[in-house]
Amino acid sequence: KEFRNNVKPNWCPGCGDFSVQAAIQRAAANVGLEPEQLAVISGIGCSGRISGYINAYGLHGIHGRALPIAQGVKLANRDLTVIASGGDGDGFAIGMGHTIHAIRRNINITYIVMDNQIYGLTKGQTSPRSAEGFKTKSTPEGSIESALSPLELALSSGATFVAQSFSSDLKQLTSLIEEGIKHEGFSLINVFSPCVTFNKVNTYDWFKENITNLDTVEGYDSSNRIHAMTKLMETGGLLTGLIYQNKDRKSYEDLVPGFRKEPLAAQNPAITAEEFEKLVAEFK
Ligand code: SF4
Repeated sequence: KEFRNNVKPNWCPGCGDFSVQAAIQRAAANVGLEPEQLAVISGIGCSGRISGYINAYGLHGIHGRALPIAQGVKLANRDLTVIASGGDGDGFAIGMGHTIHAIRRNINITYIVMDNQIYGLTKGQTSPRSAEGFKTKSTPEGSIESALSPLELALSSGATFVAQSFSSDLKQLTSLIEEGIKHEGFSLINVFSPCVTFNKVNTYDWFKENITNLDTVEGYDSSNRIHAMTKLMETGGLLTGLIYQNKDRKSYEDLVPGFRKEPLAAQNPAITAEEFEKLVAEFK
């Protein structure tokens, strides 16, 4: 079970994305997958490179479109474990429409967002996750927009698995990805993944000082959506751990009438060549 390949990541030394890569590789091995049973589909941004750094099927897609591609892969082959990944700009700006609808559709894939609260690949502009007042090259006087709260949005969109972690906590991150893979439905895992080159505010130290880890909160019930929403609001979203899981709702694939269990490629044709020709003739 070797999920490492020979490609050397060209992320900056210290970038949080290294840990996310390691956590995906460990989680895939821990749940017993073989490389040919995993597909990693990514969007555009520094984090989008991750699909090329993991020994599995992979596709480095286009900006904001990791989720439509990942959903297509899953629907074509239910036997594959599908992980979609990208940055906060990719998933919560240009890709936000896809994110919301993939959440409410509840297709059985895992979406890992590397949230560094800035656009790194384009050298440091405000992202949807940047805080109000955050100064960047695109907002030299400070951002005048409020930061998006993706997990609250996910909860109100019908999410069945919502988790958050931090690149520094490889153990927790790996364990959450394992749980996300095992979850029968859409799992969203947001990861605070510092951009050490362009974000000098939301640093490793800043997260360490400000994060509340749910593993240390007594009596928290991750099956209670009101608890989840309340705790997120209390902490300004700076909460890590399994925030919410609903194990009762069926996945999209299980709800589509007649959707077959075997991959498309393994199915016998639904109609014969002669029947197909006859059907085409009717429309001529
Ligand atoms: Fe990571 Fe930022 Fe460097 Fe991109 S620019 S590789 S996000 S540290």
